[in-house]
Amino acid sequence: MVSVSTPRHEAEMMCAPCEASEASAGARREEPIENNSRYDVVVCGAGAAGTTFARTFAETTAAVDGGENEAPPSRRALLVDRGGCAKTVERVERVTRRASVYGARAEALEEFRAAGVTTTTRAVVACDAEKKTVTLDDGVVVRYGALCVATGASPRCPLPETCDGDGVDVHEVRDVESAEALARRVSESARASSSSSTRRIALAGNGGIALELVDALCGRGMALDGLESCELVWLVKHASVGDAFFDVDVADFLARALELRRRRDDGDVREEMIDWFAIARSSSSTTTARAAKGGKRRKVGAAAGPDWISTFRAEAKGANGTGRRRMRLRVVKNVEIRDAIKTPEGTNALTLTDGETIEVDAVVAAAGVEPRCEWLDEKDAPRSPIDGGVLVDECMRVVGRRNDSIFAVGDACSMEKRASAAAAPWFQMRLWSQAAQTGAFAAKVAAGACDGEALGFNFELFTHCTTFFGLKVILLGLYNAQKLESEPASDIVTYQRETLSENPEECQYVRVLLLRGRMMGAVLVGETDLEETFENLILDGVDLSRFGPHLIDPDVDLEDYFD
Ligand SMILES: Cc1cc2nc3c(=O)[nH]c(=O)nc-3n(C[C@H](O)[C@H](O)[C@H](O)COP(=O)(O)OP(=O)(O)OC[C@H]3O[C@@H](n4cnc5c(N)ncnc54)[C@H](O)[C@@H]3O)c2cc1C
Repeated sequence: MVSVSTPRHEAEMMCAPCEASEASAGARREEPIENNSRYDVVVCGAGAAGTTFARTFAETTAAVDGGENEAPPSRRALLVDRGGCAKTVERVERVTRRASVYGARAEALEEFRAAGVTTTTRAVVACDAEKKTVTLDDGVVVRYGALCVATGASPRCPLPETCDGDGVDVHEVRDVESAEALARRVSESARASSSSSTRRIALAGNGGIALELVDALCGRGMALDGLESCELVWLVKHASVGDAFFDVDVADFLARALELRRRRDDGDVREEMIDWFAIARSSSSTTTARAAKGGKRRKVGAAAGPDWISTFRAEAKGANGTGRRRMRLRVVKNVEIRDAIKTPEGTNALTLTDGETIEVDAVVAAAGVEPRCEWLDEKDAPRSPIDGGVLVDECMRVVGRRNDSIFAVGDACSMEKRASAAAAPWFQMRLWSQAAQTGAFAAKVAAGACDGEALGFNFELFTHCTTFFGLKVILLGLYNAQKLESEPASDIVTYQRETLSENPEECQYVRVLLLRGRMMGAVLVGETDLEETFENLILDGVDLSRFGPHLIDPDVDLEDYFD
């Protein structure tokens, strides 16, 4: 292993603080940061990526110098987060060697002090990369040996740039408080507390958040009286739902699974899954289109993460709600919002690209995210032309002239270089697991404990475990032919099978993708019990041509062949 070292001794509106931070002495009663003080690393952002970076750096430096470093631990790392509430990642369940289910835990920022990390609830507003300083929003300047950019991403506004959208109610879902604000908006529509209510909500987006929201409101349903008189209009830019994750075949299976779930009465299948996650709670906020599109936006906290839907459900639940109610669902495919105005009656009129106009109580922005760190000059940290993230090399260092002193991790970064490695069935997706992995990896590099090769196993295989419409979903490798665009179509083979049943425990969808006989990826929906075997087959790269479609035959025990 080549050791990469970091020079040690060089080396609007406020978001309401969360309960965790209030409970532990209050974020604003922290020790002030001295002007011109110096830290080995300054970590900007305390979401999954930043907290993992800070903790790993503190642990690694303590282990590497055996306590002999002359700087006191508190001077080694400064964790800056304007939200005042850190989000840490926990492994809830290990599914295979490489794939796990992760949960989020809210933690007071100052809890990190026990690990030797100094914390502050200020925002970083500027960076002088030449002098290696950042400026906090109270004017204090802090010097750093290395800077870690972990400022996450913001939800993309679903209204076009050309549309003013002044006053239009756009609800984003990013942090706990935005999930709660949306829940309250849905409750108001259900109760039709305002005479101008249309009892209709538009959902713009086609990724994980949209799928989960559709399931909560229209699939599983909620104990919220009046919900059944409301309609969710799901505006999907693509020809099929869930396009951010799946191709049309898997999407079609899931759409039919949703339909079955809507017909079932109890819908309690996700209860156990929900209980996996700790529910982080905080206070409220809503946003308007103008705020969501630019300068006036509120300062969002760390991404709510996998537990957000339980937060949403807890907040939306009616005090006297009886039974399980579901919204009506209308899916409009191949459309985007072309224009949006606030009507004199107080509703929001959306004109769609197919010419239809619909009036709604609110629009939910679930159309992906945009990395954010406007305070960092692009000359010091070039951005990806594809997604706007801070471009990093294999070691999570920014590309270009500040490569020796600035790292970027989590949602804020773009890992185009590592993702372009043709041989690896891995690609970047802005996920909880990848935020934590990149944070840990960059911290080890910053602490001089590893280089681009070590810990590379984190980037050998893409894995994601989640739940859609009450069904367990495991995605492995290049499951959707990602990175295989230039391969001849004749070299790619897929096999799939499905079972759809009233009993969710019997629902299964299995699809594998092979390139010249080698398994490159798999989609597993339901309790298939194939994840471990398929993960090994992808990593081993053995030629599986002789199996043909028997690879996914439930009566063939593949493990017998490979033991
Ligand atoms: C609703 C929702 C559901 C999700 N569900 C899943 C899921 O089921 N599975 C999954 O794997 N992933 C999920 N994700 C994605 C996952 O949560 C993110 O990929 C991950 O949290 C990114 O972590 P991060 O640390 O990079 O960014 P964030 O969590 O966004 O943290 C960034 C932090 O930086 C702070 N910050 C920003 N600017 C500044 C500044 N100038 N100064 C100081 N601090 C600043 C913010 O306050 C914030 O605390 C979900 C995301 C959302 C929004």
